[in-house]
Order: sequence, then C-alpha cells, then structure tokens
Amino acid sequence: MSTAPRVTPQQAWETFIAGNERFITGVSNHPNQDVERRSELVNSQSPDVALFGCSDSRLAAEIIFDCGLGDLFIARNMGHVVAESITASMEYAVQYLGSALIVVLAHDSCGAVAAAIEQSGRTPSEVTEPVSNTLAPILPAVQHYWLQEHRETPYVESAKVEPNAIGRIHLQTTVTQLLSESQTIRDAVDRGEVAIVGCQYRLMEGRAVPYIAVGQLDIEVADVS
Ligand SMILES: [Zn+2]
Repeated sequence: MSTAPRVTPQQAWETFIAGNERFITGVSNHPNQDVERRSELVNSQSPDVALFGCSDSRLAAEIIFDCGLGDLFIARNMGHVVAESITASMEYAVQYLGSALIVVLAHDSCGAVAAAIEQSGRTPSEVTEPVSNTLAPILPAVQHYWLQEHRETPYVESAKVEPNAIGRIHLQTTVTQLLSESQTIRDAVDRGEVAIVGCQYRLMEGRAVPYIAVGQLDIEVADVS
C-alpha cells in the first residue's frame, strides 16, 4: 500500500535544513533520540526525508542534520554512486513511507572522487574489481571537467584539477541518474509531491550547500561551476 506524503517538499526541506543550521552553530537539539521515540516507532516509520549520500564517516547524517530515530531514510555508498539497490531504497521511501524530499549528499574532500581522478591519470594504481566498478560512474565527471581546459590529452593530472568542482559535476549526474532510473520518483516529482535536492557538504563549516533542486521547491541554489 502506497503512502501519500504528509508534508510538502518545501516543508520537508525547511525542517531538514534547520537541523543543519543548528549543527553548524553548535546548538543541536538531538531530537527524537530518547526511549519514548524508540518505543513510538516500533510498528511504523514515517520519515519525511530520504537521503542518499557518500559513506564518508564525517557525513553522519542524523548528527549533521540534527535529527533522530525515524527522521531520515538513508542509503549511502562510497561516492554516492547510483545502483539498483539505491534506486530501490529511494523509491521505497517515496512510495511506501511518504517521504516528500530526497536529498543527495556529496561533500568536499571526497575520497571516491579523489580515487576517480587518480584512476583517470596516465598510470592509475591497481584497484579491486568492485572498487573499479563503483568508481566507473564518477569517471565521466572527471573527464568532463578535464576536457573543458585540457584537450591536449585525456590523461588527467591531479594537480591541475579542482576535486570539489568535479564532485559537484558528479553530484549533478547522481541526481539525473536517480531520476532517469526511477519512473516512480519521476512521477512523484511531476505530481509535485516529491522534490530532490543535491547538496555538497563542507566538512570544515558543517554546512550542506544546495546546488541542484528538482521539483516544486522554492530554494536558492549555488552555482555548480
Ligand atoms: Zn565521499
């Protein structure tokens, strides 16, 4: 049985990003983390936000968005690379849990982006097959960035690129890919019930900066380039 969203994408975003503001300024409330909340959720969950982010240990979502049990439906992997299980998880949140917002969370100094840059060089180091396959969807972002300035060779020199800018190109690709692979999510966005926001998190500041917004949402986004 599908579940309709309880809030608008705008309301979901405002609650979500207010938690990040509290975290940034060091006044986190740590809500929904007590015994009462735990018991309340035993038989059901209704997270208004689904989050797909990088696995990075510094991106602990409930901490940086100052929320708790039952608030976020989360899927994470290295470099936030779309895979069938990820698409399924986001679809599940939208269709059955009534989530009104999907946040795709990238971050600066991403190890997966750095590895993708290294793999795009003239003499890439050896990596295992699962790692190679997972990094593969990040490589086009590296090439896209590199070929804007350096058409003389396809082999990327890491000293000449801006990894966080490449991360933002990959973030954009991730959002696009999630949409292209899920008709359920596309339809929900089309009905105005769900929006997707792509953020890049700044480790130093603790701020999730929105760069991409898809759907009925009135927010300011920063320039990807
Ligand atoms: Zn990362």
